[in-house]
Amino acid sequence: MQFEKLATMFDRLESTSSRLEMTDILAEFFKTVEPGELRQIIYLSVGRLHPEFYPQELGMADKLVLRAISSVSGRSQKDVDELWIKLGDPGEVAEQLVVKKKQMTLFSEPLTFKSVVEGLTSIETSVGKDSQDKKMKLLARMMHDAGPVEARYICRIVTGRMRVGAGAMTIMDALAIAFATKEERPDIERAFNITCDMGLVAETVASGGMAAVRKIGVTVGSPVKVMLAERLRSLPDIMDRMEGKCAFEYKYDGMRVQAHIRKGPGGFVKLYSRRLEDLTSNFPDIAEALSRQLKGKEAIIEGECVAFDPATGNLLPFQNVTHRRKKHGMAQAVADVPVKIFMFDLLYHDGVDYTLRPYSMRRAKLEMSFEEHRGLEPDKVGYTTRAIISSEEDAQTFFDQAVAAKCEGIMAKSLEDVSVYRAGSRGFLWIKYKKDYTQALVDTFDLAVVGAFYGMGKRAGMYGALLMAAYDPDTGKFGTACKLGTGFDDAFLAALPGMLDKYKSEKKPSSVEAEMVPDVWFVPGVVLEVTAADISISPIHTIAYGTVKEDSGLGLRFPRFTGRVRDDKTPEQATTAAEVLEFYQLQEERDGESPSEGGSEE
Ligand code: AMP
Repeated sequence: MQFEKLATMFDRLESTSSRLEMTDILAEFFKTVEPGELRQIIYLSVGRLHPEFYPQELGMADKLVLRAISSVSGRSQKDVDELWIKLGDPGEVAEQLVVKKKQMTLFSEPLTFKSVVEGLTSIETSVGKDSQDKKMKLLARMMHDAGPVEARYICRIVTGRMRVGAGAMTIMDALAIAFATKEERPDIERAFNITCDMGLVAETVASGGMAAVRKIGVTVGSPVKVMLAERLRSLPDIMDRMEGKCAFEYKYDGMRVQAHIRKGPGGFVKLYSRRLEDLTSNFPDIAEALSRQLKGKEAIIEGECVAFDPATGNLLPFQNVTHRRKKHGMAQAVADVPVKIFMFDLLYHDGVDYTLRPYSMRRAKLEMSFEEHRGLEPDKVGYTTRAIISSEEDAQTFFDQAVAAKCEGIMAKSLEDVSVYRAGSRGFLWIKYKKDYTQALVDTFDLAVVGAFYGMGKRAGMYGALLMAAYDPDTGKFGTACKLGTGFDDAFLAALPGMLDKYKSEKKPSSVEAEMVPDVWFVPGVVLEVTAADISISPIHTIAYGTVKEDSGLGLRFPRFTGRVRDDKTPEQATTAAEVLEFYQLQEERDGESPSEGGSEE
């Protein structure tokens, strides 16, 4: 295949904001390529050569790409940089400049897909002293043979910022259209959720059909998308929803970890965050202890890593465990911040995939799979405290005990047979109930930054306020929920460009639905915790659009940043449209008011 064919398809994707049209473009294209190529195309479409959890990334800095553009176009670095400042995207700079040179060149060959993948692989794997220079030259060589649109996408791929707008949901829709039926779409999604590898799923369905997709299971070493909890505001509501009986567990205030453990020769332990980042180097002590204590050869388990005070044994809040995320001085951090893992689930053990088994069975297997009960290293590995409860009074007592034990609240877990591990989905099989909910009106939302407004007065020259959005899994879009300008301290304001600028987008990203237009757009990437006084119907914001009132969304009133950057959450794992709507409805029920309209542009 010529690379131009792929670049043209990316260009067509980018020029539409209609999800249906994108799905059709992709489905048509998928049918025309080899299964092995398809796998690679899926990775390239998000600027990678491997699945998301793979540690190595292309991630070339813009400056290096600009040097390559200067070298291949013969234009001065100054000219190139100036154009970059104007356009903001090295891809567009390449499109404009590289082609000028190419028109004068007689000796250029069309780029094949294979040669681009090889070139990119060489870029990714070059390490050591002269690696930057080597990468720059490899990129320049590829661009020498590239046409304008090809050059744009090569630069976008190497910087990891593709911006073609087709998310995982759209790709799965297209795979179902190309190789399966609409009814089989959930099986494609499940395969993706348990492997986190869309390339693998695409190759499998293209080569072996749905029968092969259904055989895909969890694998030690490939992270599984985490199961998430819904929330309800009161214990009676939870008991009702659970039909009078369920398991309750303490909800610890730490960092969720999915541990993949393989013992023996060729063995390893990998700890993944809920965003699928590799956290192994942050918790070497936990990784070792888990491996030592596992009975059998291999397992995938989940737990919460919580910091504690060694003098008193008291559990410490989330902020403490984040000290383990330092890049340097890990040995010291391990000594300074003792951490214990409280395990709560088991997904796999010695050849058996437990994700489709009910919660009670998974928990029982978890408790049989570790040596913890023999008293080994009780300060490193343990289980979440848990009780089977069938009355509101007992639930209240359990909640009070959890709070006294410095936990965030409790988690209700369904004991029904249907309570499988629903990878990648948020549902009522697990329901969280937090301390915050008991404080009237105050609640927290985890929202993604999708835009920024330049500041005025004291904040001139910096971002003064942010446009925040929640995710709607049904549409795959982010809808805005508030403009956030309160709760920022000077240090946070100064750090904002460093945190956000890599997500900058010249135009509104196609995954964002917004009426309000900020000075700068961002592809959703950074998640912040926000409190609000309440939620009102909003003519400006777009989250839960049309659900309460026609032509209106919902907006947070008096939003305030809590100081907590949720870098453990992906934007898709942030608060959802359904949750915002549910809060609105609970608030209306509680306040006994009819839906009121608020001017919540703040
Ligand atoms: P939230 O971050 O508010 O959506 O709450 C869900 C998170 O609570 C999970 O991702 C875990 O990190 C954490 N958690 C703490 N204790 C438990 C538990 N016993 N079971 C499941 N999740 C827990």
